[in-house]
Amino acid sequence: MISADLIIVGAGASGIFAALAAKEKYPEKKILILEKTTKALSKVKISGGGRCNVTHDWRRVDHLTNFYPRGHKELRNVFSAFSAEDTILWFQNRNVKLKIEDDGRMFPITNSSQTIVDCLLNECDKLEIKIVYSTEIDLIEIHDRKFSIRTKSSKQYFCNKLILAVGGLNTTKGIQLIRSLNLESIETVPSLFSFNIPNSALAGLEGLSLENCEIQISESKFSVTGPIIITHWGISGPAVLKLSSFAAEQLFHQNYNFKILINFFPEYNEIQFFEFIQKTLKNNSKIKFYNHKIKAIPSRLFQRLFSISKISESKNCADLSKSEIQTLINLFTKFTLSCSGKTTYKDEFVTAGGIDLKKINLKNMEYKTIPGLFVVGEMINVDGITGGFNFQNAWSTGYIAGVNSFNNDFNKIN
Ligand SMILES: Cc1cc2nc3c(=O)[nH]c(=O)nc-3n(C[C@H](O)[C@H](O)[C@H](O)COP(=O)(O)OP(=O)(O)OC[C@H]3O[C@@H](n4cnc5c(N)ncnc54)[C@H](O)[C@@H]3O)c2cc1C
Repeated sequence: MISADLIIVGAGASGIFAALAAKEKYPEKKILILEKTTKALSKVKISGGGRCNVTHDWRRVDHLTNFYPRGHKELRNVFSAFSAEDTILWFQNRNVKLKIEDDGRMFPITNSSQTIVDCLLNECDKLEIKIVYSTEIDLIEIHDRKFSIRTKSSKQYFCNKLILAVGGLNTTKGIQLIRSLNLESIETVPSLFSFNIPNSALAGLEGLSLENCEIQISESKFSVTGPIIITHWGISGPAVLKLSSFAAEQLFHQNYNFKILINFFPEYNEIQFFEFIQKTLKNNSKIKFYNHKIKAIPSRLFQRLFSISKISESKNCADLSKSEIQTLINLFTKFTLSCSGKTTYKDEFVTAGGIDLKKINLKNMEYKTIPGLFVVGEMINVDGITGGFNFQNAWSTGYIAGVNSFNNDFNKIN
């Protein structure tokens, strides 16, 4: 039987950050981290394509709803307690400088996620926080306001305070663990995935990227404008991942069978686009439209759309009929693709859903009906789009739980 003042289950971003915040504030307390695998911070290591997109330049974040499909309202309080600015300072004070990319994403200046892993684990060593590896927790019980934690290999741990930081609740074991404590959760579904399009009309154009398209999920309110990439399994890119995030629940319930409409010219409204095409045809009346280059759309894609239209490639612009022009306009602005089945490519997969935010005191991340139990990171019903938003949730909620684990005073320690 092993006892500690505070036990943290999970050595990911949120768990490690919680442990560091707690130990800095309460150095006399015995703190243990229990981790089921043989490594800490494995997602940090692989994140951001090996560069770790630590957070986002918050000055560009207008409204949280645009970045956190789930949790935007509640995170306002959380971020006012520990913000992206606090994250930047925290790392800076430990000699890790972050840089801002053009789109607002922030990475370590070394461009290596190992810098973040090393920084966090060095801090754990410095503060003598012990991480116990290969220790999977499968049952938690409460006796006399103390937590009794049983591992898969039937070892027993006891603690007064417990922080759960087990990541997305997307496995039966994860769900069983929270059920052992009767925690209430919202159904979990995948988010941030690319779209699978079998027999796509765009097959053969793999690798083509388009700077600015509007993609809409047919017969829904979900629509996103931004860059897309044509892949060998369908489409991906920032706009697709963002759309998958906002429509995560709906797509799950449709069993990932849905249609998308792509507008390759989102900068025009319908009338403007009609006028643009008319003008283009008039100014190039004597050349074949098939060979014409339209800005913003690569010629390989333009010619593919033209082939799909079945209009003769030899027709000059001036010879296109009204209905042929309308067919082309529809292909350029309402290009329809049928998506089927979920991709298994782990672009930047996160889990939407998790512990119900209504059940959490967001001032300290304590589960309202179980004093001494805190829940943080991806396991709560918060998820963001790509750009460093998911780690910011992990840093902020982990920090708040850590500093408040032994009382409700809140003092920032940078
Ligand atoms: C490929 C990829 C790239 C990503 N890139 C980025 C990025 O650049 N920027 C960004 O903001 N977000 C990114 N994300 C999302 C981000 O990694 C997660 O949101 C974040 O890691 C969540 O942190 P966490 O601590 O809550 O959970 P996790 O990092 O998942 O950590 C949970 C830990 O708990 C352990 N655990 C689970 N169950 C048990 C148990 N029963 N007993 C003991 N231990 C247990 C796990 O082994 C794990 O170590 C990426 C995700 C993926 C998959």
